[in-house]
Amino acid sequence: MNESLKLWEQTLNVLKEELDEADFTVLFSEINEVFKTENSYIYIIVPNALTKFRIEKFYINRLNDIVGKISRSLIKFKFILKEDAIEIEKPPITTKDEVNKRPLKAEYTFNNFETGESNRFAFLSAMKVAETPDSLYNPLYIFGDVGLGKTHLMMAIGHYILDNKIDTNVVYTSAQEFTEDYFLATSTKKGKENIESFYRKYRDADILLVDDIQFLEGKHSTQEEFFKVFEYLHGINKQIVITSDRSANELKNMMTRLKSRFNWGLSVDIKVPDKNLRMNILKRKLGFLIENPKGVPNDVLELIADTFTSNIRDLEGALRRYITYCVSLNIPFSTDNVYVALDRLLPEKEDDKHQNHSYFENIKKEVSLYFQIPIQDLESSSRKQQITYARQMAIYLIKTLYNPPLKQIGEKFGNRDHATVSHAYDKINNLIKNNPLVKCDYDILIKKINKS
Ligand code: ADP
Ligand code: MG
Repeated sequence: MNESLKLWEQTLNVLKEELDEADFTVLFSEINEVFKTENSYIYIIVPNALTKFRIEKFYINRLNDIVGKISRSLIKFKFILKEDAIEIEKPPITTKDEVNKRPLKAEYTFNNFETGESNRFAFLSAMKVAETPDSLYNPLYIFGDVGLGKTHLMMAIGHYILDNKIDTNVVYTSAQEFTEDYFLATSTKKGKENIESFYRKYRDADILLVDDIQFLEGKHSTQEEFFKVFEYLHGINKQIVITSDRSANELKNMMTRLKSRFNWGLSVDIKVPDKNLRMNILKRKLGFLIENPKGVPNDVLELIADTFTSNIRDLEGALRRYITYCVSLNIPFSTDNVYVALDRLLPEKEDDKHQNHSYFENIKKEVSLYFQIPIQDLESSSRKQQITYARQMAIYLIKTLYNPPLKQIGEKFGNRDHATVSHAYDKINNLIKNNPLVKCDYDILIKKINKS
């Protein structure tokens, strides 16, 4: 049986001896439910306002007297109507303002966190900790490479707890901030005052979230201080959550005591996301960026997901940049425009240049930028002089630099046949010899392509 309820029943047993049996039965016989125990008060649910009034007027002091003796503590009773108890039990509706005041990024919630194989266990563990912060998972130690969602998950725990219990003292800090706080607290003249406010900040935490603990490596006195804070909070069952870019055992120049504490609770890692998760993240993010996410073809998302594979922050950044680019220039959401928009962001691996797709796209892109002609036009059937010239130049460059089969070049330029490709090549080849302007275009383009 619940401890609080047991105390209530023991208290009633004592009171019963002191009252007229009928009085006792009328007032107390149906009161047997505890709403909650908080700050040394046991909240007892009473059926109606009259009962509440009578207990508070005539019996409360005696009841508190008795419970104090039985429990040998300062515990007291409070009485609460059933309807009020239900009212409070509902999670409070948190306003946007309240969320913004938190020391946490507003969008870093569980709701905004996509899960896949790489992060499911970390996600479930974080949920579990958020639901029962004083559980066995203390500390929760989340580790993984940069940009994989550690801070997001850690802050989500904070949001969840605050959504359910607004007066919880959630303290978010980074190991760097902790170090700075400690330094300020100990290095200035108002030493005592500062160290006290330092203690208050960290030791009053109900939930302590410490980001990027690897920053403490090699900082011995800060580690010492963090160790004390850790011991204190852990000792009074306050939840601690830590993130790191590697497992506790892999931390270098870190006190063994601390490392072993990090392994006391639960250690979970976040791995690199698979394609499916990357796609889901892009789709979700797209919903935040534009009104009609369906307007962006899947091919575009696939291309971005295939390019940015190891860091979710970069993945999101690429999508944001692409969308901003297309929207501000009012150009279509095409895969070609991915290359143009993400120009320098795309990895420039040496062997990429020799892979079919990227060198085709790369040369089309440079030619398109140089002549100020959209890539689509290079692939179109347009016979406008300027477009034809640019297209022939692109074909010439591809053949000269990479010499792929004519048929393949034709396919990449709006399905032209090999004779057309061959003609384009010969034409530019002649012009370069005879026309200095064409030679100049060629020279500049070659330089650009070799640099990109
Ligand atoms: P870390 O702290 O591991 O370096 P962050 O938590 O800062 O990484 O995450 C980087 C970015 O990626 C953030 O914008 C975050 O919202 C986003 N992100 C990471 N994982 C997910 C996920 N599973 N679902 C949605 N967004 C994610
Ligand atoms: Mg982080």
